[in-house]
Amino acid sequence: MEFNFQDNVMYVKGVGPNRAKALAKLNIFTMYDLLTHYPRSYEDQRSITPIAHAKIDEQGIFVGKLSHINLRETYRLKIISAILTDDSGSIQVIWFNQEYLMKKLSTGTRIMVIGKVKFDTYNGGLAINQINSFAILEPGEKITLGIKPVYPSTAAINQSVFRTAIKNLLDKMPPVKEILPDSIIKKSNLISLDTAMRQIHFPDNEESLKLARRRLAFDELFLIQCGLMLIKRQNTVEKLGITCKKNGALVKKVFDSLPFKLTDDQLKTFETVAQDMEKNLPMRRLIQGDVGSGKTVVAMLALVKAVENGYQGALMAPTEILAVQHYNNFVKMLGEFGIRIGLLSAKVTRSKKLKQEVYEKIAEGNFDIVIGTHALIQDEVKFKNLGLIITDEQHRFGVAQRAELGRKSEIVPDMIVMTATPIPRTMILTVYGDLEVSLIKQMPPGRKPIKTFVRTIRQRKKVYEFVREEILKGRQAYIVCPLIERSESETLNYIDPATEIYEMLRKGIFKDIPCALIHGKINPAEKDEIMAQFHDDKIKLLVSTTVIEVGVDVPNASVMVIENAERFGLSQLHQLRGRVGRGSEKSYCILVSNSKQGAAAARLDLMESTTDGFTLAEEDLKLRGPGQFFGESQHGLPDLKVANVFRDIDTLLEARNAAENFITTESDLNYFAEMRKNLALAYGDKFSQINQA
Ligand code: ADP
Ligand code: MG
Repeated sequence: MEFNFQDNVMYVKGVGPNRAKALAKLNIFTMYDLLTHYPRSYEDQRSITPIAHAKIDEQGIFVGKLSHINLRETYRLKIISAILTDDSGSIQVIWFNQEYLMKKLSTGTRIMVIGKVKFDTYNGGLAINQINSFAILEPGEKITLGIKPVYPSTAAINQSVFRTAIKNLLDKMPPVKEILPDSIIKKSNLISLDTAMRQIHFPDNEESLKLARRRLAFDELFLIQCGLMLIKRQNTVEKLGITCKKNGALVKKVFDSLPFKLTDDQLKTFETVAQDMEKNLPMRRLIQGDVGSGKTVVAMLALVKAVENGYQGALMAPTEILAVQHYNNFVKMLGEFGIRIGLLSAKVTRSKKLKQEVYEKIAEGNFDIVIGTHALIQDEVKFKNLGLIITDEQHRFGVAQRAELGRKSEIVPDMIVMTATPIPRTMILTVYGDLEVSLIKQMPPGRKPIKTFVRTIRQRKKVYEFVREEILKGRQAYIVCPLIERSESETLNYIDPATEIYEMLRKGIFKDIPCALIHGKINPAEKDEIMAQFHDDKIKLLVSTTVIEVGVDVPNASVMVIENAERFGLSQLHQLRGRVGRGSEKSYCILVSNSKQGAAAARLDLMESTTDGFTLAEEDLKLRGPGQFFGESQHGLPDLKVANVFRDIDTLLEARNAAENFITTESDLNYFAEMRKNLALAYGDKFSQINQA
């Protein structure tokens, strides 16, 4: 029968229907899934350690026969000890709480054990007492030495099942077809895909493992880069964009009316944007700037420029709150110049009549700038002549949507995505490789750095007293909680949810102060109302979940308390913290946490010591992986199984180069289509979506 990688994994020898069910929990359904279930680490089992060479604190692989098997119980532990003997000597082996082994072990049993050697105080002498793995050997069984894979696994499927099943699969499968063109393989010095697939599981040595990893990482990165290049190419080479004139009177008027002077970085960014807009190619630009760096005004000027040239502009915000805030801001700033601003909010889309009205005004060109959430890019929304689309806080605007933009109209609108999440360069190349990048590093003048403190739950009372003092001085404050309410199944009982904190504070220390609670379950109309009141200083203390995370701008709010701060990622904490420190008052961020020790505490300490978003983002990326930057797979790219955007930066750059060259000729594009078919195998539909755009 012909071998098919898409066949059910249960047909792999050593798997079967029951284990197939357990594998499904690890998202392994097909043979291909199993093949690409790459090891998480490796155990060096290449040479057996003679027992006489055992050293304290060193790991070894020992093979010998057991004797003196003994079970004793202490207050908490059941301890099996035995003596293991080989040709060179003897050593103790100790198992904790595995009394069932007593039935399996007897004098003369041959075992292989991998573990760390310690000094045993009970019997004295050396003992293997940190056992990583061990196996009882059948009489005459030969030990296969080598570098052994360690797989991400579940209780139901242990390492030896994985090893055996994958070994069987490798033995049975035909050579894996090459997917890269020869020229790239040669130029980038890659080993064959077949070799790489095999070596990644059972490497001959460190060097061949390295080569295997590099090959597989290259493939992943190359594919992503090709996808991004295709989007870029389609948007720049294959389609015409709009062409704006040099900045005219309207831009100048708005510019002159700004209540502040732009920072150099803002100016430079706007100039770059203006130049992009004056070209006939579609603009594709990412503007990165830390929270509070003043991206909105740059966006506004760009939109005004589009309007001045007779186009409509759209500004897409990630949340309703933000859309409304931008809308009010734009009306205030631009209304006097006769620029007509529309809002496509949830309130509008909920009412059929309102929605129809707004849609019509958009379609007839009666709105010059439309602001909304992602309702803006729904198919029903037809612009008369959309020239520029800006998305604020892009991380909910993935690759697929970016590609979608180009598909929608004959002329491709210009596009800017703005992000306050500092994205390390390597990540940019991976996820935004189709965009040009501008950076706003400078903060507007007059900002006082936010003081950050870490406090324990026991110090909370003091924290609230401090907040109270600040409020009495005229300031406003946020209290941010990780959860809305306590769910019954919630095992994390040490988390205080927003609802409970709110009740406690409203009835307690803040009972004479206007407080409000806001979170994702509160209906949008009410949410808008609360935000408006907070904005107008009618509400002094806002207890919330992370709904206020992005972009909300209330300059008088100068204190933020983050409860259970250890529950948040560093980048997220940094985003939250960016809600304060927007005015001229001294601002404070107090992180309340119950963990004073360990990794969580170390992370919070970092918050105390730096306000640099990039440092925090890099740290976060190291600690938590790239997923959290984009809300798991919202970036719409295939997951990286092997490649690591930090470690593999060289491979990434090489893959990007190769992809750039590869995507330049028509014949290559055909080849790419062919390759993509083969790759549906590897990446499923995700990838094909990107490229069909
Ligand atoms: P973000 O980049 O986080 O979106 P905003 O655009 O919301 O930042 O700007 C934050 C605050 O700084 C706003 O209140 C804005 O009016 C103000 N601001 C922006 N640019 C300047 C500037 N050059 N000088 C003074 N204040 C500025
Ligand atoms: Mg913003």
